[in-house]
Amino acid sequence: MDEDKKKTIMIVIIIACLAVAGFIFIKSITGGDKGLNAIPADAMTLVMCRNPKCKAVYEMSTREYTAQMQEAMSKMMMLMETPGLACKECGEESIYKAIKCPECELVFEENSVSGDIFDRCPKCKYSEFEAGREERKKSSD
Ligand SMILES: [Zn+2]
Ligand SMILES: [Zn+2]
Repeated sequence: MDEDKKKTIMIVIIIACLAVAGFIFIKSITGGDKGLNAIPADAMTLVMCRNPKCKAVYEMSTREYTAQMQEAMSKMMMLMETPGLACKECGEESIYKAIKCPECELVFEENSVSGDIFDRCPKCKYSEFEAGREERKKSSD
């Protein structure tokens, strides 16, 4: 098999996987009335703007985040990259889910430390998820 053919097959497989994953995701969050209504009306999601000129950090309603995410998911299938949401400050589609470190108060994007826990702080290396896991481990002894 020549290289070009291999590449084409790889791309087809990737697109098929994304399509299936996207379909399941959209189905699970739009499934009947459950999807958005299952999210508490007052739930908030912290987001941050990737636009280096803006860097806005703010909270938006989780329902709105999910609704915009659903829309962005269909775009992602075409662009094959994680979609950004429209920023209320600069209007660019560069809003991503953010985490505020409880230790040093740095606001950073999820998965900032590649290959590590999603909420690992790139500055002080604290992970609330990891801390919680250790807490549970201790209490179960
Ligand atoms: Zn912005
Ligand atoms: Zn930190």
